[in-house]
Amino acid sequence: KYRSYPYEHMLKIREQNIAPSLRMYYKKPLLLHQGHMQWLFDYEGRRYLDLFAGIVTVSVGHCHPKVTMAAQKQLACLWHTTNIYMHPSIHEYAEKLTSFLPDPLKVVYLTNSGSEANDLAMFMARLYTRNFDIICFRGAYHGGSPYALGLTSIGSYKHGVANGIGCSTTMLPDVFRGPWGGSNCRDSPVQTVRRCSCSEGVCHANEQYIEQFKDTLNTSVPKTIAGFIAEPIQGVNGAVQYPKGFLKEAYQLVRERGGVCISDEVQTGFGRTGSHFWGFQTHDVVPDIITLAKGIGNGFPMAAVVTTKEIANSLAQNLHFNTFGGNPLACVVGSAVLDAIEEDNLQKNSKDVGTYMLLELAKLRDKFEIVGDVRGKGLMIGIEMVTDKDSRHPLPSEEINQIWEDCKDMGVLIGRGGLYNQTLRVKPPMCITKKDVDFAVEVIHTALEKHMGKAAAN
Ligand code: PMP
Repeated sequence: KYRSYPYEHMLKIREQNIAPSLRMYYKKPLLLHQGHMQWLFDYEGRRYLDLFAGIVTVSVGHCHPKVTMAAQKQLACLWHTTNIYMHPSIHEYAEKLTSFLPDPLKVVYLTNSGSEANDLAMFMARLYTRNFDIICFRGAYHGGSPYALGLTSIGSYKHGVANGIGCSTTMLPDVFRGPWGGSNCRDSPVQTVRRCSCSEGVCHANEQYIEQFKDTLNTSVPKTIAGFIAEPIQGVNGAVQYPKGFLKEAYQLVRERGGVCISDEVQTGFGRTGSHFWGFQTHDVVPDIITLAKGIGNGFPMAAVVTTKEIANSLAQNLHFNTFGGNPLACVVGSAVLDAIEEDNLQKNSKDVGTYMLLELAKLRDKFEIVGDVRGKGLMIGIEMVTDKDSRHPLPSEEINQIWEDCKDMGVLIGRGGLYNQTLRVKPPMCITKKDVDFAVEVIHTALEKHMGKAAAN
């Protein structure tokens, strides 16, 4: 029936009956009806290549047949909680999920959203350490619930009510926009083209940022802390990468202060970075707690916290209950997602197609002055737009909007991010092909050329 709802009528309902804090993408918001793998179809049958599915949820492809079949089968059988009665699905899933993780990350809590997972991670870090303070990065997004919002350090998500007591924000070691950074200091097939301020061709960015991290530890928090949370590559802020080695040193410093290290794998997990299954592995660290959401369920609302037995025990002194976390539907979906990643060889595809895309996009960076940086790993990619490469001033949002709208009109959906909304974010379903990349890069190229033509005419 909903198919016959007129577009204008839906806009009216949206205005009157749907939370106004939710903002639609695009001047004329897309009205979607269907998805298939890397493709989305709107109500008029127009097809779009979805370069932003991963950020939203979809890892293995919209309505992946294997995942859909698993959900349909379970739907007809039992939907219930698995937290007061046993059901095979949660056992099978917990075993399968942890088989992808190194020791000692073996205990799983299933939740319903990433925010809830980060809330729980904070809670356990505090219970386990008996400390309170948690450090996060500037520009981080870890959730919108009141507890996790304290770790989210992006002004546009803040609402001026008390939150974040005991959360301290530290400098983001961003090798493109931050004060230090240069060639060969990040783990990406594409390095920055900014001139490195470091001496004699050797990049000292990591040391400089670690000094800042130490400064936060020495001046802004108590002597002992509960933990530190970071994504392996910062997502909402536009695929921001840290210098190689940073997280490893930071983890050590945090542990010296009694804190636990939390890796938010909501965006970087499940093979997205290509070289590894988990983002933390790209930094050669093993966190104490990881949080998972979005791609874990390929669109199904589910999330998880995985931690060590010792940390998990801190929560076992009393009851901790979650009605829907780990329900049978979520568990069979999560399980099918893991199978699909393996059977469709999606981690390798992320690596091959992601690297290809990064290198193709780097050609656009070299051609257009306003493409300041192309970065990322696998299929987690950021294209940072600037007025010019020397100043690195963010390109004004209105100018990026036009490029972004033009891409959509030509059939390619891209995400937005960054503290100044200056970065185009690319996180397609991991089943994308090189042919799709050729199409997407050509579309972005056309949109950039149009923009440059307009800029010259002005
Ligand atoms: N962590 C990260 C890195 C995220 O990107 C998000 C969502 N953008 C969250 C946590 C919160 O997830 P959810 O929206 O499912 O609460």
